[in-house]
Amino acid sequence: MIDQLYRKAVLTVAGQKTIENIVRARGWGVAQRFVAGESIQTALNAVKELEKDGVLANLDLLGEFIDSPEKCTAFADNVLNLMDAAHAQGIRPYVSVKLSSVGQGKTVEGGDLGLTNARRIVGRAKQYGGFVCLDMEDHPRVDITLAQLRTLIGEFGREHVGSVLQSYLYRSEADRAALDDLHPNLRIVKGAYLEPETVAMPVKADVDAGYRKLVYAHMKAGNYVNVATHDESIIRDVQHFVLANGISKDTFEFQMLYGIRRDLQKNLAAQGYRVRAYIPYGRDWYPYFSRRIAERPANVMFVLRGMVKG
Ligand SMILES: Cc1cc2nc3c(=O)[nH]c(=O)nc-3n(C[C@H](O)[C@H](O)[C@H](O)COP(=O)(O)OP(=O)(O)OC[C@H]3O[C@@H](n4cnc5c(N)ncnc54)[C@H](O)[C@@H]3O)c2cc1C
Repeated sequence: MIDQLYRKAVLTVAGQKTIENIVRARGWGVAQRFVAGESIQTALNAVKELEKDGVLANLDLLGEFIDSPEKCTAFADNVLNLMDAAHAQGIRPYVSVKLSSVGQGKTVEGGDLGLTNARRIVGRAKQYGGFVCLDMEDHPRVDITLAQLRTLIGEFGREHVGSVLQSYLYRSEADRAALDDLHPNLRIVKGAYLEPETVAMPVKADVDAGYRKLVYAHMKAGNYVNVATHDESIIRDVQHFVLANGISKDTFEFQMLYGIRRDLQKNLAAQGYRVRAYIPYGRDWYPYFSRRIAERPANVMFVLRGMVKG
């Protein structure tokens, strides 16, 4: 409960334009803990750094809720540029995309622009043997995102596209079961948005219990699972679960965010687990950065100290 109140307070304050302007002007120094620079090359350099620790990468060009169709298509072009650059430097492109940033919900020439652009992105990933994860955003987008996932898996195959379920949503258990015929590659997360209690569990213990349930159910159904959390007690339980159920290390991976628990990422990779870090980059870092701050009270102090130092 306190966690939800804290998240709500931080995201509400962060959403105010004056606060955003101050943090955008003075906060880049601290944002760099969570964001790997503003250019494609800084992101690819971060991939190469992580490789040294045996950690794989998931690249994310930041940008969400983009307004005009032209900007959405330009954003999709930038994701294609990212994949081209990664491929040219010998990196198999694994990217995450928020469908709101490429036009989901905007109808153009009778079709959904988000789906049209997602087709271009997943098609390019397939060409390079890569993978695209459709990030999950706030709850009004869940139905359309899962429907578009179904379409894209049908057209390109589950080896090249997957998505995310959030354990704080009451609906996620049913959503997971309804996707089982596709055997999709799913990332399981707790959920990062400010959601009403009518759709999302307000008590952290319930979100954590729901998280374990989703991971175990998806593994038991024989699917590839991305266990995306920094929660060590969940990670330990998943390690026991896979041992007890004879689940191979090739059928799941741990995922964490760039700049968070690097020690744990390295340690799990050294134990032979597949580990992938989510590497966000780009100029539109503010909303992503706000959600990271809202996850942990200590992060607010980190930001304030960093901004005072300048
Ligand atoms: C790879 C990846 C992809 C994600 N994709 C999505 C998505 O598509 N949609 C979505 O809604 N959410 C997404 N998230 C965010 C997720 O929903 C959570 O908000 C976030 O992961 C924090 O929850 P947790 O599972 O780490 O557990 P928590 O219980 O929140 O945290 C466990 C521990 O992790 C550490 N920790 C957690 N967050 C931070 C932080 N910000 N700074 C420092 N330490 C921290 C702390 O030690 C904390 O005690 C993603 C997360 C990851 C790791």
